[in-house]
Amino acid sequence: MAKRRRLIVANWKMYGRLTSGLVLVRDIVEKAEAARPLNFDVVLCPPATLTWAASESVMGTPVMLGAQDCHTATHGAYTGDISAAMFTDLGCRYIILGHSERRGAHGESNELIAQKVEAAQLAGLTVILCVGETAAELESGASATDIVQKQLRASLPKNVKTAHLVVAYEPVWAIGTGQQPSPEDIASVNKAIRQTFGEAGETVRVLYGGSVNPSNAGAIAARDEVDGFLVGSASLNADGFWAIAEKCG
Ligand code: PEP
Repeated sequence: MAKRRRLIVANWKMYGRLTSGLVLVRDIVEKAEAARPLNFDVVLCPPATLTWAASESVMGTPVMLGAQDCHTATHGAYTGDISAAMFTDLGCRYIILGHSERRGAHGESNELIAQKVEAAQLAGLTVILCVGETAAELESGASATDIVQKQLRASLPKNVKTAHLVVAYEPVWAIGTGQQPSPEDIASVNKAIRQTFGEAGETVRVLYGGSVNPSNAGAIAARDEVDGFLVGSASLNADGFWAIAEKCG
């Protein structure tokens, strides 16, 4: 199996005001600087309001910036929306797309997500595409692997650039609940995700996300099929986030 550089991503969702958010960015940057040279990648995805100020704080450090969503168009009469190129302008290198909170609360379909993936890659961003089964889907008897592979195929544009794609396996029932699949089950879904891409899958990083914390991250990171983490609530604390990051090293 090819050795892929691991990646840890912080998804701050709608948390972090100007002062508290920038303090958190600087605290994490300080830890990353102290740990140089890093043998894994670190990406912070703050709320869009913090991106510009955060980009100054991470400049010249091992920490990279990402966005949490974008519009499908490059520009236009779309009140309140932000295009992928606008995030590129602010120094973002990554973008989370297809998160279950957007699929759920904003009714985002696989088709819309595929359009966003295409737009984001055209703007030069690496996409962190989230997929994962709901508890109801599991209860209906389908396997997590089948559900996730189907969702993944439907969320990819035809011309997807796998070199600029990361997939995050995030079981919806594990997000913010303290529940998780076993490390074995995570590894088997991650492997199936990679196999979806055939040979090109060898370079696609497949992360795990869902209630990751400093106590459970080690057992999951011990699996070769896990190329890192997408972390929600535990990423809002610099010490806790860095303790998880160190498991990627
Ligand atoms: C997420 O929302 O992407 C996530 C993984 O959240 P948490 O770590 O809080 O479960």
